[in-house]
Amino acid sequence: MAPRFGSHMSIAGGLHLAVLRARAVGGEALQLFTKSSNQWAARPLAAEDALAFRAAAAAARLAPVLAHDSYLINVASPDDDLRRRSLDALEEEFVRCAALGVPYLVMHPGAHVGAGEEAGIAAVAEALDELHRRRGPDVMVLLENTAGQGTTLGRTFEQLAAIRGRLEAPERVGVCFDTAHAFAAGCDLATDEGWERTWRAFAAVLGQDRLRALHVNDSKKGLGSRVDRHEQIGLGELGPSAFWRLANDPRFDGLPAVLETEKEEDLADDARNLFVLRRLVGLAAPPSRAAVESWRAEAPLPEAVPGASKRGAKGRR
Ligand SMILES: [Zn+2]
Ligand SMILES: [Zn+2]
Repeated sequence: MAPRFGSHMSIAGGLHLAVLRARAVGGEALQLFTKSSNQWAARPLAAEDALAFRAAAAAARLAPVLAHDSYLINVASPDDDLRRRSLDALEEEFVRCAALGVPYLVMHPGAHVGAGEEAGIAAVAEALDELHRRRGPDVMVLLENTAGQGTTLGRTFEQLAAIRGRLEAPERVGVCFDTAHAFAAGCDLATDEGWERTWRAFAAVLGQDRLRALHVNDSKKGLGSRVDRHEQIGLGELGPSAFWRLANDPRFDGLPAVLETEKEEDLADDARNLFVLRRLVGLAAPPSRAAVESWRAEAPLPEAVPGASKRGAKGRR
């Protein structure tokens, strides 16, 4: 067994096209935005579109699908209006996930914007409690670890645990682990010792069973840089060994593990990255960068997705 590798896919042209894009690259997992990620307002989700999406995702065996929250949402904000607006937007996404049969909504904890870590953590917990009071348990929020840019929360496992620790129903919140963010935040996933130290800490601070999804990204920036820039798998500062460990670590068997790397409209980079990740499974030792480069050149290119527009296929954070 291994993780279920897939990718974040654009919903340009319709939600069901994200499923076709996932299938085109041979994905076993899928992440998407349930609405435009940089606008507050969204057209209501039509019941027939939701049903079409559910059917397509089930036929493509993409369960569990992940949704990622909008970039505008900041429930940690000290600004009352922005915080309320963020909570309402988060609730709207939660409702869309439920309609789409998407069980996990990945969420960045947010930025405290100078109010301080404690205040930010309290604000996130209050928002999640309110969300849970308003809505049923059919969707689980997954807090994502972050690179710790600026006043962003989620740089440490302790911050994520502090948010969960304040919740009335902590069992309703899980964690999504992003490799590039962890590395930029100071977890040295590029060495055996750093890898083990990181996952021992995760289990001790958060609990291994809280891990529900992985974001599989290499990093353009160095260890501890606190800068969030994704790179193609094996070609960045993390390098091939980190992804070799990830592909062969039984702790991640069966977990959805999605790419959020830059890609062109033809999805070729996704196909290349997935090909590399699958080649790593069962390999006795990490490959060289040169080997990764030659695998990328060998990867079969995806077929064109019918009805896909030219917009919106860029990488995700
Ligand atoms: Zn991520
Ligand atoms: Zn990122």
